Amino acid sequence: MIGLNDGTRIPQLGFGTFQIDPEDTGAAVAHALDVGYRSIDTAAAYGNEREVGGAINGSGIDRAELHVTTKLWNSNQGSDRATTAFEESLSKLGLDYVDLYLIHWPVPSRDLYVETWQAMEELRADGRIRSIGVSNFQESHLDRLADGADTVPAVNQIELHPALQQRRMREAHAQRGIVTEAWSPLAQGQLFDDETLGEIGSGHGKSAAQTMLRWHMQLGNVTIPKSVNPERIESNFDIWDFELSQDEMAAIESLDAGNRIGPDPDEFTG
Ligand code: NDP
Repeated sequence: MIGLNDGTRIPQLGFGTFQIDPEDTGAAVAHALDVGYRSIDTAAAYGNEREVGGAINGSGIDRAELHVTTKLWNSNQGSDRATTAFEESLSKLGLDYVDLYLIHWPVPSRDLYVETWQAMEELRADGRIRSIGVSNFQESHLDRLADGADTVPAVNQIELHPALQQRRMREAHAQRGIVTEAWSPLAQGQLFDDETLGEIGSGHGKSAAQTMLRWHMQLGNVTIPKSVNPERIESNFDIWDFELSQDEMAAIESLDAGNRIGPDPDEFTG
């Protein structure tokens, strides 16, 4: 568990649900919960909140043991729209509260994220959100938020994997008391054939995917790998019985190429 700046906690390793079809979502999330994942990441834009909530509510696991994140889509920024969109998400999830609600992208060209944040602060004060955070925010967006609002985001969920290590953003987060959450922690599969990751993994009897996830854990990132495949859901959670040495961490550090898979947060409007 990783402590957040508002006194709540988040499991360091959770389960991502981007690009999981609604018809596959229930089984994937149910399997993740069986395996031991206790944190699930979804978003209004993923179109599967209803199925995520169904699996959570059908699991029989005490709600207090689970951590659920969802996100506000770009077209719903602005005070009134954000409140309505949050209520729709909560209703689709079938929950009384979410643990973490994120602004999905800053969309700086529309300049609505400060107003949106203020609406989220109110929803949090109502008790329907435990923690509020952001996603894909650059340092300039964090600065603007700090100027216009009272609450420091609990997390910033950003693209982060061995080919895009985000050293500068991790430092900026540490200075501000924001936890770094890595999306596409496995680089969406683009590094599975990397020789360095393969060699380090085989030295521990682990795959390249497990090696990457272990690297995230040792860096202190929160992360949320996605899979629809039961064996991969299991193996992505089986990373607690080995440790990467300093030399292995340094070898992975040398893979940073600054390569983004996703869009540029300064430009993306959705
Ligand atoms: P990941 O880096 O988690 O990679 C997922 C891909 O890797 C899938 O194709 C999956 O295929 C495959 N895979 C997973 N585990 C293994 C394994 N052990 N061996 C081989 N292949 C594997 O990508 P995501 O983009 O899904 O990122 C993770 C989560 O981050 C998302 O699901 C979402 O919750 C969040 N996210 C947030 C964004 C944001 O803007 N805030 C943007 C993008 C993602 P298969 O399913 O067939 O196993």
